[in-house]
Amino acid sequence: MDIRINLERLKGDIKSLSQIGRDKMGGITRPSFSKADLEARGWLKEKIKSAGLTLREDGAGNIFGRLEGKGKAIMAGSHIDTVINGGMFDGSVGVLSALECLRRIKEDGLNISKPLEVASFTDEEGNLVGDFLGSYAFLGTLKRENLEKGLTQFGAPLVEILKGTEFTVDSIMDAHRHRPDIEAFLEIHIEQGPVLETENKPIGIVDCIAGKHYRWCSFLGRASHAGTTPFELRHDAFLGLADFALKGTRYVATKHYGNMMTIGKVNVSPGAFTIIPGQADFSLDFRSTSKETLEELDKSLLALAGDIASTRGLDFSSKIINKTEPVNIPQRIIDIMKEECEKLGFPFMTLPSGAGHDAQLIASVAECGMIFIPCVDGISHSPLEMIDWEDLEKGANLLLHTLLRLEGSVLDS
Ligand SMILES: [Zn+2]
Repeated sequence: MDIRINLERLKGDIKSLSQIGRDKMGGITRPSFSKADLEARGWLKEKIKSAGLTLREDGAGNIFGRLEGKGKAIMAGSHIDTVINGGMFDGSVGVLSALECLRRIKEDGLNISKPLEVASFTDEEGNLVGDFLGSYAFLGTLKRENLEKGLTQFGAPLVEILKGTEFTVDSIMDAHRHRPDIEAFLEIHIEQGPVLETENKPIGIVDCIAGKHYRWCSFLGRASHAGTTPFELRHDAFLGLADFALKGTRYVATKHYGNMMTIGKVNVSPGAFTIIPGQADFSLDFRSTSKETLEELDKSLLALAGDIASTRGLDFSSKIINKTEPVNIPQRIIDIMKEECEKLGFPFMTLPSGAGHDAQLIASVAECGMIFIPCVDGISHSPLEMIDWEDLEKGANLLLHTLLRLEGSVLDS
């Protein structure tokens, strides 16, 4: 028996969803719990119902559609929220491909034994109070204080934003109580990088997902007059940051090539033409697929910043904002995906994911697997995000066949 997804229908779904939350800059702005997101949720729930799946929504707004069966569920999904001015494929590919897989299984009247679920997790992009609100709520690992006191990217407290929804801090904290037992979680996602395109492979089987540390750091010096303070008497906080940015990047690139360090946000104050900066605050993001390397980077980069501070007459301080552990994908899942690619005749390669994904968190309660498809020029989090639809067809078919293998149905491709 053979079974394939319906590409035209999946394409239609992705295009329809992309009409919700169109912004003036030609992209999609659909942060969780915004007006556009509430509309998109309504749209998705209708799709799940009309596919004949059992709809369920938890207290954090995570949405599920279930094909009944016995025992632990095999789940597949991703997220439908976007970054500000994002593209139409990040997240939606994962949710809508999973929906299409379940729809095909139901249409063909396949006799499944284990329950199958499509999942859409709230605020993967972290527009509210840190990344992965929905999947943390699903696991029950959120801190109430962060929800009650947390300020969102939009300046408003989370509790204010929740007033426009049916959700509350209590309902988010309770979301995990209704979590079904899950055996495995699969996620198909655009790669968000250039590797698959460069290697000319339509499928990437992820073998590990990088962990990351987010730190918020400051060099503190002394603001003084730009015209009258000699170089040797300055305590220029910005020069401390510049020195650290170059030396830190060189250290990671030479001693730990393949790992990443990025300074993505900088505030220099007082911030005037005529004043030597007294303070330089910056974000520090570093990532690795090895837990040991992550710890080593944490120690070495902080030590480097401390050395630079003392050489330049500055103080340095830093606090951890967020931390995720690297996750190795179980070999069983990787092997199943490789076998199914071979049966289906799809070229593939294995690769790590440098970006974080819901699958990385769900990995603490279920076996996880991830399928990447290429995105044009590696561009993501941008209105320019684009894919080749044939790659999506292959990726979604691999998802379908992996789901069926995990479920226990053996098919001839
Ligand atoms: Zn995503």
